[in-house]
Amino acid sequence: MNERLYRFEHGGASGAILRILPDETRALNDLLPEAFHQADNPRITLSYTCCYLQHQGQHILVDAGIDGDEVTALLGDLGVSPEEIELVCITHVDRDHVGGLLLQIGDGELAYPNARYAIDSDLWTELHKPETYDALPKHLRRLFQRLKELIEDRVILCQGESEVARGITFVPCPGHRPGHAAYAFATVETPILHIGDVALHPVWFEHLDWSVNGDSLPEQAMESRRLILDRIRTTHALAFGTHLPWPGIVSRT
Ligand SMILES: [Zn+2]
Repeated sequence: MNERLYRFEHGGASGAILRILPDETRALNDLLPEAFHQADNPRITLSYTCCYLQHQGQHILVDAGIDGDEVTALLGDLGVSPEEIELVCITHVDRDHVGGLLLQIGDGELAYPNARYAIDSDLWTELHKPETYDALPKHLRRLFQRLKELIEDRVILCQGESEVARGITFVPCPGHRPGHAAYAFATVETPILHIGDVALHPVWFEHLDWSVNGDSLPEQAMESRRLILDRIRTTHALAFGTHLPWPGIVSRT
C-alpha cells in the first residue's frame, strides 16, 4: 500500500490522486480576511496533490505537482511511464501545480515529453509578458520561463467553456488566479470534475460568502465557487480538489 496514492474507478475511467507534499495544518483565521475571523479559530488540514486519469484510452494528468522526479516515480508505481502521458490539464501556474512538469525541480527537461498541455489562453498570453516575471523571485522566474519555452509547441489554448479533447471540457473558474480552470471528464456514469484550487478546504463550500487570503481576485473566486458547487450538485460529478483533505474528494451530500 502506497500512502501517497489513492486509486479510484468511476464510470469506465480510472485513476489516482497522487500526494505531492505532506499534509499541512493551518489555523483557519490565517486564511480568512479579518472580517470573517472565527472566535474558535479551528485548525484545518490541507493536502497537496495532483491527479492521474485514464480516460477513454488516454493517459492524462491534471496538474503535475512540484517535483517532476517524485511524481513520475509515483506514476511508475501505477505502471504508467512519463512518455505515456498524452495530455496535461493545467488548472493554473502556481509552483505546486506546474513545477513538476520539469525534472530536477525545474532545472531538467520536460517530465512528459509526449504530452500536450491545456491552459487558459489569456493566462498563456500573460506568461509571454516580461512584467509577469518582475515580481517573482529569481528561481521561479527561471522555472516559469523555461517551462513556457519547453511547452510552447505543445499547448492547447482554451478560451471559455470548450472541449479540450473528446469528452474533456475546459471549465473557466477564475479568481484564485486569473485564468484558473477546472476540467470535466465525461464518463458512462456522472462526470469526473477536477476543480483545482477553487476551494482549498470544504469550509469555503459551506460558507460561500467567505473569501480567502491569497486569492488574486477574491470576488471572482467566490463567484467561481458558487458556480462550481452548483455544477457538482446538478451533474452529481465525482469531484476532486488539489488541497481538500486527503484524498481530496468533494463531498456529494
Ligand atoms: Zn494550489
